[in-house]
Amino acid sequence: MKIDLHGKTALITASTGGIGFAIAQGLAESGAEVVLNGRSEASVSRARDKLNAAVVGAKIHTHIADLSSAQGVETLLKGLPAIDILVNNAGIFGPKDFFATDDETWEAYWQTNVMSGVRLSRALLPDMVKKGWGRVVFISSESARNIPVDMVHYGVSKTAQLSLARGLAKVVAGSGVTVNSVLPGPTISDGFATMMADEVKRTGKSLETLGKEFVMSQRPSSVIQRAATVDEVANMVVYVCSTQASATSGAALRVDGGVVDDIV
Ligand code: NAD
Repeated sequence: MKIDLHGKTALITASTGGIGFAIAQGLAESGAEVVLNGRSEASVSRARDKLNAAVVGAKIHTHIADLSSAQGVETLLKGLPAIDILVNNAGIFGPKDFFATDDETWEAYWQTNVMSGVRLSRALLPDMVKKGWGRVVFISSESARNIPVDMVHYGVSKTAQLSLARGLAKVVAGSGVTVNSVLPGPTISDGFATMMADEVKRTGKSLETLGKEFVMSQRPSSVIQRAATVDEVANMVVYVCSTQASATSGAALRVDGGVVDDIV
C-alpha cells in the first residue's frame, strides 16, 4: 500500500513537538501540504526548520495560535488555506488529585482538549463535505477508556473526544468525509519528557527506560510492555488520513500497545 496525499492540505494542531510534529512529518512524507501550529514564533519556526530538514520539498505553512480559547481558535482560522485533513492533536495532560482539582483546571482541560476540536470541526467540516472528501482525527488516549485515578479530569476530556468523533462521523454520514479518534497509550513525546524531567535528573535513566518502567508500574496490562514512540502513533494517524482508509469512520482506533484489556 502506498499512501499518497499529494494535493491535500492538513492542519495538525499543536504540532511543534511531540506526537503532533511526528504526524505532520508523516503526512508531509506522504505528500500532503501541512499547516504547523504552535503558540510562539520561536517554536513554529524551529518546527518548520526541522520539518524542512526531514522532508525535502515539504510544503509548510505555520500558524501561531493558542487553542485554549475561542479567540485563539479564531486566530488560527484566519488566513488558513483550504483544509482537507484536520488532526485535533492539541491536548494538555498531567496528574492531579481529584480533590485538589479546581474548576479552573477542569475548564482549562475542557477548553483545550475538547472545545478546540469542536470549534475547528464546526468551521472546517462544511467545506470538506462540499468537496466530498475530508478526514478529521481526534488524538484521544487510552485514558479515555482506562481512566487514570490520578488524572480523572484528563480522562473525562479524552472520553468526551470519543463521543465527539463518533457524533461528528454520524453528522457527515455518507459524505466521503471520515471522522475518527486515535487512542495512543503512553508515548515518549516532548510532553512525556517534561513530565519525567525530575525522574531523569534524579535517576540518570533514559526516557526509554523510564517509559518502560512507567508502563510496567502504571499500565501493567500493556501487551508491548514499553512506551510507544511518536512515530508509531503517527503511522496510525497517517493511515486513517489516507484515501485507502475510506471505510473507517466513527471508529476509536487504538495504538495503545494493548493497555486497554479488551478485545475490540
Ligand atoms: P506534547 O506536550 O509533547 O506536545 C504538545 C504540543 O502542544 C506542544 O508542542 C505544546 O507546546 C503544544 N500545545 C499545548 N497547549 C497548546 C495550546 N493551547 N495551543 C496550541 N498548542 C499547544 O504532547 P504529546 O504527548 O505529543 O500529546 C499530544 C496529544 O496526544 C495530546 O492530545 C495528548 O493528550 C495525546 N496523548 C499523549 C500521550 C503520551 O503519552 N504522550 C498518550 C495518549 C494521548
